[in-house]
Amino acid sequence: MSQTFDVAVIGGGPGGYVAAIRAAQLGFSAVCIDNWKNAKGKPSLGGTCLNVGCIPSKALLESSENYHRVIHSFADHGIQTQGVTLDLAKMLARKDKIVDQLTGGIGFLFKKNKVTSMPGLGRFVAGGDIYQIEVVDGEKRETISAKHVVIATGSVSRDLPIAKIDNQLILDNEGALAIPSVPKKLGVIGAGVIGLEMGSVWKRLGAEVTILEALPEFLGAVDEQVAADALKIFTKEQGLAIELGVKIKSVTPANNQVTIEYDGKDGAKQLIVDKLIMAVGRAPNTAGLNLDAVSIKVDAKGFIQVDNHCRTIANNVYAVGDVVRGPMLAHKASEEGVAVAELIAGQKSHVNLDTIPWVIYTAPEIAWVGETEKQLKARSAEYRAGSFPFTANGRAKGLGETHGFVKILADAKTDRILGVHILGPFASELITEAVVAMEFGASSEDIARIVHAHPSLSEVMHEAALAVDKRAVHI
Ligand code: FAD
Ligand code: NAD
Repeated sequence: MSQTFDVAVIGGGPGGYVAAIRAAQLGFSAVCIDNWKNAKGKPSLGGTCLNVGCIPSKALLESSENYHRVIHSFADHGIQTQGVTLDLAKMLARKDKIVDQLTGGIGFLFKKNKVTSMPGLGRFVAGGDIYQIEVVDGEKRETISAKHVVIATGSVSRDLPIAKIDNQLILDNEGALAIPSVPKKLGVIGAGVIGLEMGSVWKRLGAEVTILEALPEFLGAVDEQVAADALKIFTKEQGLAIELGVKIKSVTPANNQVTIEYDGKDGAKQLIVDKLIMAVGRAPNTAGLNLDAVSIKVDAKGFIQVDNHCRTIANNVYAVGDVVRGPMLAHKASEEGVAVAELIAGQKSHVNLDTIPWVIYTAPEIAWVGETEKQLKARSAEYRAGSFPFTANGRAKGLGETHGFVKILADAKTDRILGVHILGPFASELITEAVVAMEFGASSEDIARIVHAHPSLSEVMHEAALAVDKRAVHI
């Protein structure tokens, strides 16, 4: 007899596993079906984020930055080093260990919360009042039933038809996180989040990195001043070669190298690299779900169509995370997972897509929430802006990380905060104050009147808020 659950979650990434745990906390019987297998062929929960995304990339960013600091920054602190060597195998093994610990941790959380974990590919067989889902894991086939279904099948790396990923020479994010020796020359197609993060890792470890970007503008979604300053730091100081406005014509792997032919600003060009990372965006993953069985539609870009509460058109079927509209971010996926579990329980949860923080983990980090000046101008909004640089902050000086600034944009009449943009050290941590402020409808004056610890990087946020009213103190 098939097992019946109150809630079946398809996908065990940050959207799915969190939805399953929250559903179980609320007293539902919950199953999480996930088909991820690690390099050893073993099921590994956590989806893209834990296996080949957020977690391993941040581990390598940290390790590579330490390596870079020892060589380039320690002398400034009066610490002389000699004979510094890179043990890349150990660095990669450390990253793998962190991934194993965290993915294994989800199994523990499932046991603790009594979530049933089913490895395998989930596929709708029939809809109606009760949904039938077939789960296929190798030779094993089982059909389960569920009253509610949460689709959390995430996204997959996009590729270009002219560049076939083989994860030997032409790499997606998975290959980019596991290059066994530092390539002499590394090419990256796409100067987005992955391109910049992975390009930074391998540059710091010694590769000569060229990033080719189709758009003429660098980081178009980011505050213009942040993007301009970041571009200068990444190219002039860190030595990343970034070419904007290119058109890739061909990508040819041969003799252990990859040749890229492209049109650049100055005409036709050729780049020959030892490895090429493809980082041209991600596409929603609905392959294998058999959505037709439950009449669920995807939009022109392949995203499952949902309303503001992640409800699909099929009764009691929800979809969360990368497979639906909104930013492709782990924290957005998880919050949607929580919200749908609570909606199923009759609560009134929802996720405010307007206050989702973004972070790019370069050095310095880039973080923002809310609208940019460009967006405010486009809707003719009247606003005031206040900025403050890290260079005038004592803690940043002590850290030796003085690049960048905090910029606060506030409504000219009500002073309500509309957007906060940070380029600087620990921007990923600092942005949370801005998110809290925006969620509570705070004004820049509210931040200006809150006591911030001294000496701390958060004082830059404080001074930026004062600067909105032209009364910053330390500049
Ligand atoms: P996923 O994490 O993709 O999980 C979906 C799961 O469903 C997978 O395990 C998949 O195998 C499984 N699945 C798919 N179809 C089926 C099926 N039919 N049956 C069973 N299982 C199925 N975001 C951040 O917020 N911060 C970061 O620092 C960050 N860094 C990133 C770095 C990289 C290199 C990449 C690639 C992404 C990064 N992201 C980051 C994005 C983040 O990983 C995603 O937004 C997040 O993983 C989306 O979660 P999800 O649950 O929607 O999907
Ligand atoms: P992205 O959308 O950030 O960047 C892709 C870039 O590739 C764009 O700038 C695009 O213009 C460019 N591009 C597309 N086609 C091209 C072509 N033919 N030639 C040259 N350039 C081309 O996507 P990504 O970097 O692949 O990352 C995917 C998603 O994963 C991100 O949007 C983000 O949601 C998530 N992610 C988040 C983090 C983080 O939160 N720190 C880190 C990594 C990934």
